[in-house]
Amino acid sequence: MKNHCENCVHFRSAPYEAKTAGCYLPSNMPQKQKLACLDEQQLPGDHETINLRGDCPDFSARAVRLPWWKRLLAS
Ligand code: SF4
Repeated sequence: MKNHCENCVHFRSAPYEAKTAGCYLPSNMPQKQKLACLDEQQLPGDHETINLRGDCPDFSARAVRLPWWKRLLAS
C-alpha cells in the first residue's frame, strides 16, 4: 500500500499549518530552528522527492478523528 504524505504526522500544509508545505521531520529538513518564535525560518524537506514511490520509512499515520456525534457520545 502506498503512503501519502498528507496522511503523515510529519507533513504540514501551507498556508494554515506552515508557511511552506513539506516534510517537517527534523532529519529531512535542510534548515531547522529549535525556538518556536523562529518557526517561519525553517525549511521543510521536499516530501514529493523523499516519498516519490510512497514507501517512506519515516511515515507515521495521523490519528483518525471521530465524527462529531461519536465524540459527543463518548463524552
Ligand atoms: S516524506 Fe515521509 S516523513 Fe515526510 S511527510 Fe512524507 S511520509 Fe512523512
